[in-house]
Amino acid sequence: MFDELGSKLDAALKKLRERGVLTEPMIKDGLREVRRVLLEADVNFQVTRDFLERVQQRAIGEAVLKSVSPGQQIVKIVHDELARLFGEGRPSLAVHGTRTSVVLMVGLQGSGKTTTAAKLARRIARGGAKPMLAACDLQRPAAIDQLRTLGGQIGIPVVAGEFGGDPVAAAKRARDEANAGSFSVLIVDTAGRLQIDERLMEELASIKEAVSPTEILLVADAMTGQEAVKIAEGFDQALGITGVIMTKMDGDARGGAALSIRGVTGKPIKFVGVGEGMDDLEPADPERLAGRILQMGDVVGLVERAQATIDRAEQEKLEAKVMGKGGGRFTLEDFLVAMRQVQRMGPLEQLLKMIPGAGKLKIPAGNLDPKRFKHVEAIILSMTPEERRKPDILNASRKMRVAKGSGRPVAEVNRLLKQFKEMEAFMKQMRGMMGGMKGLPFG
Ligand code: GDP
Repeated sequence: MFDELGSKLDAALKKLRERGVLTEPMIKDGLREVRRVLLEADVNFQVTRDFLERVQQRAIGEAVLKSVSPGQQIVKIVHDELARLFGEGRPSLAVHGTRTSVVLMVGLQGSGKTTTAAKLARRIARGGAKPMLAACDLQRPAAIDQLRTLGGQIGIPVVAGEFGGDPVAAAKRARDEANAGSFSVLIVDTAGRLQIDERLMEELASIKEAVSPTEILLVADAMTGQEAVKIAEGFDQALGITGVIMTKMDGDARGGAALSIRGVTGKPIKFVGVGEGMDDLEPADPERLAGRILQMGDVVGLVERAQATIDRAEQEKLEAKVMGKGGGRFTLEDFLVAMRQVQRMGPLEQLLKMIPGAGKLKIPAGNLDPKRFKHVEAIILSMTPEERRKPDILNASRKMRVAKGSGRPVAEVNRLLKQFKEMEAFMKQMRGMMGGMKGLPFG
């Protein structure tokens, strides 16, 4: 469901990601784009503003400007803050230790309340506890039947009030029955309306008072966009909800609803519904929710890994050489250092998967073979230091010696030298371009 929001955010952040050096105005500029994306995706205005304020403060405060790759650093901050917005860690259900804990399911009609009540019961049963379902939406006979059918399907007992009867009395009876039968959790399905109205809220408040639930979970349809915020606020003010279950996250809804509800009510998203089946309910994981919104592969993991493995000093030396600063030249020795750094980050295929968009690149599998790195390494190590610095002196007999020493065919030695020459030429060209740009504002 977060695809739309994700790809737009991705585009906005891409600009930041591509920049080698960031200035404060650049950060602000980039975040303005992020803001537009969030608003377009139906994220509540206030939530967006607070969110970006925190990101900006952190981005400017955390010496992002001096880091290895400031753009990615900001992406990481956006991700972290998104995850924080969704809550800390994985939320759990509050339960009593000794008697039956009551979980009240509330929400508008059609939000997926009844289905979700059954899904939740199944989850709880799988976790080894003993749940019971109570049908307390007594206005629609279909609702009672629906819960009974679902309960039968998943093997969870269902108690139901009389159609047209008093839902408060029915809820109490159900709780007493669950207590007597030593059920650990009673999940109460309540009536919904097409929109929030006072009578519904009064009814729900009376049920709440009668059965003292440990959880009041709002079931909200992810497809409802901005509307979801008003719905959540309404239920929260009237009842004091303890958490939210976002349903229909499998659809292509706009991603803002979950974010906005969390931001406005401050109540955690506890589960997400991802389909109509009884097993299609997942615990909400803030990290994953944020990751899905950003839809950028595991950029964050990549940034972290790069920071942990790349030796900053070595990196700077290399950069200086690539740029031709200090009279240094990029040699095969440097090439070896660079290659080893990349290798330390892990298998290349894995790294590529973490880079957004790289999945689409068609790289011949052989090029990523770690064995090839080893071969290149062996070839370079078989050269004398002088040869590494001045590969031009490698004549036919020297090449033979290197080939023998490394156990690789001469053709491979030649290929490496050719690649290195191409790289050198490319760097010269880059240097020329960079030099020429010095006078421009972004040079
Ligand atoms: P209620 O009126 O709130 O009790 O809503 P229902 O439980 O009857 O659900 C309304 C419709 O939404 C049903 O067709 C459900 O199968 C469907 N539904 C509920 N949760 C999900 C979900 O997470 N994903 C999808 N795709 N459909 C869902």
